[in-house]
Amino acid sequence: MSGDDQTAPLAGEDGSWLQTLSSLLKETKWSPSLHQIVERLSNNVPLSKDDGVLLFQHENLHEIGALANCVRNARFGDQAFFNSNVHINQTNICVLACRFCAFRRGPKAKDAYAMSIETYLDDLANYADFVDEVHSVGGLHPDWTVDHYVDLFKAVKEQYPHVSIKALTAVEIKHLGQRSSISTKEVLQQLKDAGLTSLPGGGAEILDDDVRAIICNGKESSEEYLRIHREAHEIGLPSNCTMLFGTIETLEQRVQHMISLREINNQTSGFQCFVPYPFLPDHTRLPEAQLATGSEILRTIAVSRLMLNNIPHIKAYRMNIGDHLAELGLQFGADDIDGTVQKESIMHLAGSTAPLDHDRAKLARLIRDAGCVPVQRDTVYSSFSEYIPPEPVSRRRLPMVL
Ligand code: SF4
Repeated sequence: MSGDDQTAPLAGEDGSWLQTLSSLLKETKWSPSLHQIVERLSNNVPLSKDDGVLLFQHENLHEIGALANCVRNARFGDQAFFNSNVHINQTNICVLACRFCAFRRGPKAKDAYAMSIETYLDDLANYADFVDEVHSVGGLHPDWTVDHYVDLFKAVKEQYPHVSIKALTAVEIKHLGQRSSISTKEVLQQLKDAGLTSLPGGGAEILDDDVRAIICNGKESSEEYLRIHREAHEIGLPSNCTMLFGTIETLEQRVQHMISLREINNQTSGFQCFVPYPFLPDHTRLPEAQLATGSEILRTIAVSRLMLNNIPHIKAYRMNIGDHLAELGLQFGADDIDGTVQKESIMHLAGSTAPLDHDRAKLARLIRDAGCVPVQRDTVYSSFSEYIPPEPVSRRRLPMVL
């Protein structure tokens, strides 16, 4: 993967998007305080840290959303992407105890679990006919080495060759390297050879070591997160990247987080999708968390779209923010809504109430209600097909747009 050509179309993007963006931006009378930013966006010049903070502090949320939507529409038209996937969290046993995490358990906890390869395959068998991706992240198991995952991924690919494996966050890769006494790059290579398709982006939290020391002490450092993703890209494994906001970070730290990811992608082009998601309200963990409001979530999605000019896809992660906000996120610069998911533990134990029973038709209707065209994609954004959902059994009788 090489990031040399900054003007080459990104995955799923319209090749003439920059001309389209210039025209779209001219159609609106923007506030004077945004003029310089609009000019930079028109020329695909990366926005600065000050620009990012200004976007967070601009008084008119809807104007920021409209600006982000110009970029999103220029790149992808009215398409919104989703996939058919299932989340299987292979173990909740973890040697760490990040303060924001409601999922991890100590090995002796009554509800601690670690799936054997057979159990994992049995679980996947329930969904394999309907999905083309399994998304697996979990705790840092004290005993598992890279061999466990090599065997697991080989078994998955043998039984379900059509299923892509998006698995293991950077801290899990680091842990496997330590447990197996090999470098993280060697871990990634062995896992890729065994069938791993891509890395999810979890664990980025906020890429600032002062923040990390408070919210996830002991986890990988900012530099390690970025290095492990860079190594993945270097051996041809694409990845996503994330941002957990609404804990204790400042706006400057949020913007710097985005810039750090953008700088890696200038070199590798391996990040496919950015997933900003808020810390979910909780009364016991991290009581000093600032928590994000609905408008702040929408604004953060919009600012992500505007700051990250070289990461193609911005996800409104409905597992975390719920269906209603995710739908609105598609009008604030996001172009992806994740997948059918079917089952998920990490966000739900932290308080998410997002429904898990969405089939493609339900997701597609949600996308259509946001004014977008549902397009099913694969894990690595290399194949796309418009999905037309069947008519709902009970029709809505209140048309909102004529
Ligand atoms: S966030 Fe991950 S590493 Fe941290 S405690 Fe939870 S499972 Fe363990």
